[in-house]
This record gives sequence, C-alpha cells and structure tokens, in this order.
Amino acid sequence: MRRKIVAGNWKMNTLPSEGLALAKDVIAKSAEVSSGVELVVIPPFTHLNEVTKLASGTRVAVGAQNCARWQSGAYTGEVSAAMLGAMGVEYVIIGHSERREYFGETNSQLYDKIQQALSSNLMPIFCCGEKLDEREANQHFQVVKQQVEESLFALDEQSIKQVVIAYEPVWAIGTGRTATTEQAQEMHAYIRNLIAGKYGSQIADSISILYGGSCKPSNAAEIFAKPDVDGGLIGGASLVAADFIAIAKSF
Ligand code: PGA
Repeated sequence: MRRKIVAGNWKMNTLPSEGLALAKDVIAKSAEVSSGVELVVIPPFTHLNEVTKLASGTRVAVGAQNCARWQSGAYTGEVSAAMLGAMGVEYVIIGHSERREYFGETNSQLYDKIQQALSSNLMPIFCCGEKLDEREANQHFQVVKQQVEESLFALDEQSIKQVVIAYEPVWAIGTGRTATTEQAQEMHAYIRNLIAGKYGSQIADSISILYGGSCKPSNAAEIFAKPDVDGGLIGGASLVAADFIAIAKSF
C-alpha cells in the first residue's frame, strides 16, 4: 500500500501572521479528510518554527520548500536540512521547477540536496517534469528520465524508499492548464517503471508519486483516481484552506 499524500506548496506567499492563520485553518479542517491521506503544509522558511509548533501533535505534517546542498558552514543565506529537522520539519521539496529555472539548480546539485535531506531524516519531495517546448518536441519522457536518473539513481535501496516523487509538468504549473488524466497517468507509470528497472518492482510499487500543476477541487478527483497517482503537490489552491482540504477529500 502506497502512502497517499496531499502537500500544499505555499511558495513565497503569506506573511507570518497570514501563514499561521492558514495553517490553523488547515489543521481545523483536517478532520474532514480520510485518515488514510497524509496532509502536508509547506510554508516559507520564516514561518516554519511557528507552524511546526502549531502542527505538532496534529495529523498535519510540515515541509520546507528547499534546503542547502551542504551540511553547514560559510554558505550565506542558506538553510541546512539539519536546521529544518531540528524544528520538526518532516518533508522538503527538492528541485521544484522554479528552483531549477530561477536558481539554476542542476540534477547533480539536487542529488546532493537529497543526500542532505536524508541524512537529517527529512523525506524529500523530489520534483521532476518537462517544459512546454520539450513536450511539444516529444522529449518529455527523455527529460524526466534524465532528471530521475541523475538525481536519484545513485541512492541506495534504503534511501530511495524515503523519497516521494512529484511529477510537475512545467507548462501546467500556475497556468490553469492541467495535464490530462491520461498524460499524468502515462508519466507516473513511466517513472514507476524507471524505478522498477533500477530498484525492482517491490520498491517501485512502494514509492508515492504525486501530481502537481493546476490541481484544484474541480479536477483532483479524476487525477487521483488514476492508478499511479498517489496524491498531489498543490500550489495556488493550497493558499485557501477550504480548497486544499477539498482537494484532499477527493481521494
Ligand atoms: P500550482 O503549483 O498548483 O499553482 O500549479 C504547483 C506547484 O508548483 O507545486
């Protein structure tokens, strides 16, 4: 049985007071969601200390949006995985397409970040996905294969089992344009198959693969119904507690 996860990536939104109110609202409404679905809120760094305190002892887990690829030291402006773990953070997004695009994060740097996350007992939510021109040129499988192979395939079996994968076609992020359920299923099955080829089908079948990109209450149910879709990484719709919860109730 794979874990079902619905995670809300708040990105660079909400001031601390607004973020706390949003987290409170999500926690208050979380009882509406089937207990088999794991809920994760992923606020900006500045809110993590307060939000982890608020969420402690509730069914809502807390994630961070990024971590450093080094353990500690002279890396001004960076936040280490160990610092996040010490605050009670359980998940960390690695390699979101916005990080790849605006901060030039490469597949091999992302491998380092995953190592850092795992060594602090954080579960990485590793993002992969093609850009629009890559899909139009029919290169989407090749692009995702390279991302997965270069960032994940040096991990040993114990480590890969801790990783959550999010397939996020870049052309669907924040655009209102969702992948069709068939496109999502096809890529999720492809990724699972890649993992099976490297680590065997037992491990591949145990890894949760989330869909991300314009997921909302009106389309979540049909996406989540697909056999290889194990949940969602939700951006815009996670900023409204009622929408985020409605998505999580779509399972
Ligand atoms: P979106 O973002 O739901 O706003 O498209 C998803 C994401 O970037 O994780």
